[in-house]
Amino acid sequence: MKERDAELIVQSMNRHGLRITEQRRTIARLFANATGFLSAKEVFLGMVDKYNGLSFNTVYRNLKLLEELGVIERFQIEDSIKYRVGCFERNHHHHHLICLTCSRVFPLETCPMDNFQAPDHFQIVKHKFEIYGYCGNCQRRGIGEDAGTMSA
Ligand SMILES: [Zn+2]
Ligand SMILES: [Zn+2]
Ligand SMILES: [Zn+2]
Repeated sequence: MKERDAELIVQSMNRHGLRITEQRRTIARLFANATGFLSAKEVFLGMVDKYNGLSFNTVYRNLKLLEELGVIERFQIEDSIKYRVGCFERNHHHHHLICLTCSRVFPLETCPMDNFQAPDHFQIVKHKFEIYGYCGNCQRRGIGEDAGTMSA
């Protein structure tokens, strides 16, 4: 299964016209095997033993490129920037519900900006919108703000 996930990521790189280098394959495998999000540092640490002289900057540039292409997605989790595999079924602009416990991510169909009227003097260039909470699985396992009082 993990091999298949890694292959999906490589295919996604391919679709976006990226040259599939051995380093990028390794990045794909790291993300396929990750249970949740990976920081740039974690990706670097997962690669540095394998590639002599690999610099953090190279890894960071690769992640940035993959993010721009939508192969991976960038998240702000608490105070840190983390990445995870992009939602392959969503090629267009979308937002996420993020589970604080298990790091599962659920794509959202609606964008709040569709109903947002900016003040005339402000030109909007981009926006961020993420919703944090507890997924159904985690609530059933008793994790959540008031999981104890829930009837289901
Ligand atoms: Zn997504
Ligand atoms: Zn969860
Ligand atoms: Zn949006």
